[in-house]
Amino acid sequence: GRVGKYSTAAAIEEPITPSVKVNYTQLLINGNFVDSASGKTFPTLDPRTGDVIAHISEGDAEDINRAVSAARKAFDEGPWPKMTAYERSRILLRFADLIEKHNDEIAALETWDNGKPYEQAANIEIPMVTRLFRYYAGWADKIHGLTIPADGPYHVQTLHEPIGVAGQIIPWNFPLLMYAWKVGPALACGNSVVLKTAEQTPLSALYVTKLLHEAGLPPGVLNVISGFGPTAGAALASHMDVDKIAFTGSTQTGKVILELAAKSNLKPVTLELGGKSPFIVFDDADVDKAVELAHFALFFNQGQCCCAGSRTFVHERVYDEFVEKAKARAVKRVVGDPFRGGIEQGPQIDSEQFNKILKYIRAGVDGGASLEAGGERFGDKGFYIEPTVFSNVKDDMLIAKDEIFGPVQSILKFKDLDEVIRRANNSRYGLAAGVFTNNLDIANHVTRALRAGSVWINCFDVFDAAIPFGGYKMSGIGREKGIYSLNNYLQVKAVVTPLTNPAWL
Ligand code: NAD
Repeated sequence: GRVGKYSTAAAIEEPITPSVKVNYTQLLINGNFVDSASGKTFPTLDPRTGDVIAHISEGDAEDINRAVSAARKAFDEGPWPKMTAYERSRILLRFADLIEKHNDEIAALETWDNGKPYEQAANIEIPMVTRLFRYYAGWADKIHGLTIPADGPYHVQTLHEPIGVAGQIIPWNFPLLMYAWKVGPALACGNSVVLKTAEQTPLSALYVTKLLHEAGLPPGVLNVISGFGPTAGAALASHMDVDKIAFTGSTQTGKVILELAAKSNLKPVTLELGGKSPFIVFDDADVDKAVELAHFALFFNQGQCCCAGSRTFVHERVYDEFVEKAKARAVKRVVGDPFRGGIEQGPQIDSEQFNKILKYIRAGVDGGASLEAGGERFGDKGFYIEPTVFSNVKDDMLIAKDEIFGPVQSILKFKDLDEVIRRANNSRYGLAAGVFTNNLDIANHVTRALRAGSVWINCFDVFDAAIPFGGYKMSGIGREKGIYSLNNYLQVKAVVTPLTNPAWL
């Protein structure tokens, strides 16, 4: 048949033993590792096998209360928000140095807990975490208000003050990178934080937050709670003493967060949610390059990216060639133990995601799309899935509408510019988009017509610390990274004084 075949011979051998130990499994409250109030623990699993890595203290509402009290005290009594911005900046810089020093150990923890290729964690993600903290350390002493002319004899100034206690809830797909996107700006602005990690990936945040305290962070400024969404997460989002909540995860849970914030103290909410991002290949494209980039846009990180290019639109003139080459590329993708060198794809995060992805693959077949490659689990243990390619995908198929969050590429055919813009925008999501063309007019036109928070032209997934990221429509509220993220963690106070006998206004 047409279905690309995988050689499972080279598949999954005995899992490689990670070269790192799990030293921290408790909650981190007020600068100390402590058990949860209930004494309960939960296992964090190795996605390569489903085996238990470690038992982790399970925080719930009671622990959130303890952490929020510590954060409140650290904010209200200092020293953190009251120290000079330069001192805060230096602590963040020392933290970045420590992350850099322990880069490979942290990367190993990330791979063990999440399943992502070690080389990706060690060479891309953890260095990006370091870069993020240096970037926000640089902002700490450059945050200031304005002097504003008014209609009368007044001296008017704005003070940009930290918002207070920030609650942050992060997902499992980029555990430490999501930590950095949230913690970096919050701390640079002088806030204190209670962070809840994803239950699938608690390890790296505990490890680095220990380093942050070694770098000089006062106790209570950053508290890390491991635990589940409906208990710990919901308690944080609805807490009356939390001044702001930031969340990354599914659109469904994002709605819950917004509702909990509204029903409690109306804390401002920023949300980074799901996506169904188009990647559009025009007919002037170098097909080989387009195939490679579209492949990366979808399969990177096992397809577990909110901005994954999960609708590959290809112009009809190059469509057949593109499909053949996309299939050949997927079949060549190197799947296996993420600790091995040269591995492009490890296992999915857990059995829930694994089963959900296989269900979507079945829906693709049942819905009439053509399965070009993959479609099955890979190997016989852990949560590996074959790189999967569908062609002849139609806009109204489930696989073209829902976020699959796995290694499943859907290729759709288009004829002309207006049609592809309309179809690309015909989604409840609006997180990102990719455009592949050498035609500057097309690139400029499409860039402005697409309703998405990021548009990558002839590139994809460029995540510089300075570039803002976030969604239109149901992909979220607000922007993270860059200068934009600072606004999420600041209040603006207008201060007015009468001017007596001004020389001029
Ligand atoms: P999720 O949104 O349920 O979980 C993300 C975070 O929210 C976790 O820390 C979780 O504990 C917490 N959470 C869950 N329910 C909560 C609640 N009621 N109150 C407060 N916090 C809560 O996502 P998931 O179940 O891990 O994955 C499901 C789907 O979400 C995926 O298949 C994918 O489509 C999407 N997802 C998106 C991203 C992203 O980066 N945008 C990341 C992970 C998952």
